[in-house]
Amino acid sequence: MMRIIRYLLVVTFLVVAIYGCSPVQENEDVLFQVSTMNAIFRADYDGEITYGKLKQHGDFGIGTFDALDGELFALEGKFYRIKADGKAYPVDDSMKTPFAVITFFQPDKSVLLDEASDYKQLRKYLDSLLPAKDIFYAIKIEGTFEHVKARNIPGQNRPYPQFSEVVKNQIIFEFDDVQGTMVGFWCPAYLEEINVPGYHFHFITKDKRMGGHLLDCQTENVKIEIDYTPEFHMALSESG
Ligand SMILES: [Zn+2]
Repeated sequence: MMRIIRYLLVVTFLVVAIYGCSPVQENEDVLFQVSTMNAIFRADYDGEITYGKLKQHGDFGIGTFDALDGELFALEGKFYRIKADGKAYPVDDSMKTPFAVITFFQPDKSVLLDEASDYKQLRKYLDSLLPAKDIFYAIKIEGTFEHVKARNIPGQNRPYPQFSEVVKNQIIFEFDDVQGTMVGFWCPAYLEEINVPGYHFHFITKDKRMGGHLLDCQTENVKIEIDYTPEFHMALSESG
């Protein structure tokens, strides 16, 4: 009997050792968010945490940079900063972000969409693929687009203007017959003020040279992958 108990203790210890000490195991289905959209709407554009730290929480995501100077596009652990000129630049670990949403991307569902769809039709189709409307979904859409309309905004100077003013100076980029990838999230309506309810995507061209925050698109032939993300971790600013 003692031997069985000792054996069980060893097994229990091993289980704890394997699962308790593996950060990857814990973090895979967690959406990690830095600050809130509410802070952005309050014109708080100061970077809160470094990209070096952010990268520990995911390999896939979107966000912005200190002083809103660039749009984040992260895919397969590669991070890009798309600036006001529409071009993608490397992200240094010392750079900071005032708002970012990130996860480890492991798709639970994968479908092909070979019917041309405008952004409204695409969102309606995506709606039909999401099993529950109370969790987050990380979404990757890759393939050929007839058209993509994206925007970028220039870095801001203090005193920071309101976000509604910032957006007035957005620079629009349009791509025709382009191959590329959209990465982003679907966020439940009840998280308004915290995140962006509904869909929020950033786009990058296949050569990873240009992109931006997605405003509109027309798909031609794309693969849609969806990662169900039921856990949520939010890192808030201590300075308020
Ligand atoms: Zn965006």
